[in-house]
Amino acid sequence: MDLFRLTAHELQDKIKAKEISYTELTQNVIDRMDTVEDQVHAYVNTVKEQALAEAAKADKALAAGETVGPLFGIPISLKDNMSSTDMPTTSCSRILSNFTAPYTATVVEKIRNAGTIVLGKTNMDEFAMGSSTITSYYGPTQNPWGKDLVPGGSSGGAAAAVSAGEAILSLGSDTGGSIRQPAAFCGVVGFKPTYGMVSRYGVHAMTCSLDQVGPIAKDVMDCALAMNAIAGYDKKDSTSANVPVPDYTANLNGDIKGMRIGVPSEYFPSKLHPGIKEKVEAALKLLEDQGAIIEEVSLPASKYALSAYYIISPAEISLNISRLDGVSYGVREDVIDGDVYDMMVATRAKGLGKEVKSRVILGTHFLCIEQLKPYYHKALKVRTLVKQDFEEVFKKVDCIIGPTTLTTSFNFNNFPDPLTLRQNDLLLAGSNLAGNCAISLPCGIVDGLPVGMQIMGNAFDDEKVLRMAYCFEQASGIKNLQPSFIEGGE
Ligand code: GLN
Repeated sequence: MDLFRLTAHELQDKIKAKEISYTELTQNVIDRMDTVEDQVHAYVNTVKEQALAEAAKADKALAAGETVGPLFGIPISLKDNMSSTDMPTTSCSRILSNFTAPYTATVVEKIRNAGTIVLGKTNMDEFAMGSSTITSYYGPTQNPWGKDLVPGGSSGGAAAAVSAGEAILSLGSDTGGSIRQPAAFCGVVGFKPTYGMVSRYGVHAMTCSLDQVGPIAKDVMDCALAMNAIAGYDKKDSTSANVPVPDYTANLNGDIKGMRIGVPSEYFPSKLHPGIKEKVEAALKLLEDQGAIIEEVSLPASKYALSAYYIISPAEISLNISRLDGVSYGVREDVIDGDVYDMMVATRAKGLGKEVKSRVILGTHFLCIEQLKPYYHKALKVRTLVKQDFEEVFKKVDCIIGPTTLTTSFNFNNFPDPLTLRQNDLLLAGSNLAGNCAISLPCGIVDGLPVGMQIMGNAFDDEKVLRMAYCFEQASGIKNLQPSFIEGGE
């Protein structure tokens, strides 16, 4: 049986019915990895033996009558920026290619405490900078939906792993769309929780004020189950929100009667692929049929959001990457005739990729005294406006809905220029700037490729967003899509 195709909750039902064991499940996913990983390249490190040993333990625990939670014994993957002591955490950068963390990230501890079995770390754009995984030091990941198609990024490996059946669930991170965009491109569900809901302690920082860890899964229920495991206050993370954690699955019942959905015209620009527009409009109609009230809203500052994002994020990147200097950890370039500064220059010159370097240079420029006011301070003001826009709209509506991306996945051989690539983040960065929550879930297929719909919610309305997404998934029947390229093979 192709167990790798099932969701965590479906698998748990099979376990409970004694149809399968945790060992069979883990072995099934590992077999799938062995069959398709050469084509997909979702992983940069795997711990298959460790996973099988843990699965055997899980079987014993179950046999001994231990209570098992909904994610117990479920094989998962972690993005390569989440620290753990059992394998390297490199952020897919040459400079950290020899680095194994001396401690474990809180989010990793939490997902492991739920009983999940980690299979390995997934590929990503270097330090999470990018939208395609092409900036990874280890080479790109392939989208399971089409030969030479990008899986999106930066959590491209995480989304491709779930789509291809190489993990039942993945954890990714999202600074400006890096969970939602790859989820959309690979036809899976990706959830960026409210800023501060999931601890960032032990997760390599790209942009501290925007980064957020979240799940990538085959359906909304699995996302909610993962949120139950990973959300919550962490005193080790100074930006962690000390708020109660709801049961994210409690209201997944399909009832959205009377809920109000705002549709912003700014999220349907002329550059939007007409096929995507059509699918999202059909989805809105379906939600209306389920009892939601649809109204037009406006987020006027959102047209400046991307510019603000591409000033604030490199500024913070330049600070975060400054700690990688070859002194405390990472790959050091020794120089024969030179001092410590020459060593640092050589280490960074060789250890960091082009994309990272260009963002560090740009960010340093924005933070220098002459540019601080015209760029960085102005961007912070725009950020406030973006946040205020959302706050105003969320006084009237429960959720905002639009497309996740302007296009479907693009081809490695027809790669957009850097400006177009950044413009593609248009519909994504706003939620990060505002610190809100947002999910991307499949809402149809266009030209043989999956299309993502984005449901955005106010800060700490994560549960509402999941409820809306679940209703759409149930009503449309669009869930757990199987990718065409990997299935068709070649
Ligand atoms: N594409 C965005 C960027 O390159 C998103 C990055 C992210 O969310 N980590 O900045």
